[in-house]
Amino acid sequence: MRRSLVAGNWKMHGSLQGVSALVAGLKGLDGAVGVDVVVIPTLVHLPGVAEALAATSLMVGAQTCAPVAGEKALTGEVSSTQLAEFGCRYVLVGHSERRALLGEDDAVVAKKFAAIQEGGMIPVLCVGETREEREAERTLDVVGGQLKAVIDAVGVAAFAKAVVAYEPVWAIGTGLTATPEQAQEIHAAIRALVREADAGVAEGLQLLYGGSVKAANAAELFGMPDIDGGLVGGASLNAEEFSAICRAAGRG
Ligand code: PEP
Repeated sequence: MRRSLVAGNWKMHGSLQGVSALVAGLKGLDGAVGVDVVVIPTLVHLPGVAEALAATSLMVGAQTCAPVAGEKALTGEVSSTQLAEFGCRYVLVGHSERRALLGEDDAVVAKKFAAIQEGGMIPVLCVGETREEREAERTLDVVGGQLKAVIDAVGVAAFAKAVVAYEPVWAIGTGLTATPEQAQEIHAAIRALVREADAGVAEGLQLLYGGSVKAANAAELFGMPDIDGGLVGGASLNAEEFSAICRAAGRG
């Protein structure tokens, strides 16, 4: 059975004081049963958060990294190898905000995915359609295309050590959530697409749903057979709310 996973994407939020209060509020999640919990602060907050959570079961992730591992002349970037030294375990890649606002296309996403694995960490590949694409009934084309671009570049075997997050763009930060049935339909399609290439990898692949997940809708979403947890933005900035979401994902 796949383990549940909940990741909190703090985006570009938090001050030193605010982050330390948030981390303190999350300590009650230490040892949460049946769910792995990851928090994903900004890069400057990451070392402090990793240190504060080092003795707990909570893990730390990064929101992005350079498209190449190791060290080189690449001003402003941080590599997966450097992140790994701080105990970082997961890295988001292909988040819709970076695709839309920073021009990250499928080719860059595939390079980052490979670099994350080269650094020994787990990529969380985000895929999702815009409202216009859904209304034009192009959801499966778009999501399938984003996924296939990475499979074609790195090979399906790489997904044995990866996570995929389905995040409909129209549901991110909008308060609109895909219904559990809508989300399940796309999760099942994503798993079927991976299954075409490798049934074993498809079976073990953790698929997260993201898009206005909150304590009030988490249990219903996580109750669907192909939803293995959540990628949570806004609600992850509130320790109590995020803790309730993580508990809703616990299956043990
Ligand atoms: C996200 O940005 O990954 C996200 C899911 O945000 P929110 O939960 O705020 O919709």
